[in-house]
Amino acid sequence: MPYCPKCKVEYREGFYTCTDCNEKLIESLSNEKTEKDHEGLKWSYLMTAYNDIEADIIIGLMNSNGIRAVKKYYGFSEYLKVYMGTAFNIKIFVPDFMLDEAKKIIEDI
Ligand SMILES: [Zn+2]
Repeated sequence: MPYCPKCKVEYREGFYTCTDCNEKLIESLSNEKTEKDHEGLKWSYLMTAYNDIEADIIIGLMNSNGIRAVKKYYGFSEYLKVYMGTAFNIKIFVPDFMLDEAKKIIEDI
């Protein structure tokens, strides 16, 4: 799905500009799987948690296994976080070189 690079809101297919910022939408799907942070560390997409509580459990589990994990909110879930204090469909990212190990832990749940 295309999304706005400025406010990160996702749009349905067929939209080309953001109705809020007038920004040209960009295709998200593929490059959302991995991204680099300011330290140059490559993060890979692990899984999507149903809500904030589940995300925290998974991140806690990763941390207890020595794996760093981060939550990322995109689009509508960011909106919910702001207005309702909770979020849904939270994407969890782990460092790329720890992805295999992280996946094994998830399988064991
Ligand atoms: Zn926008």
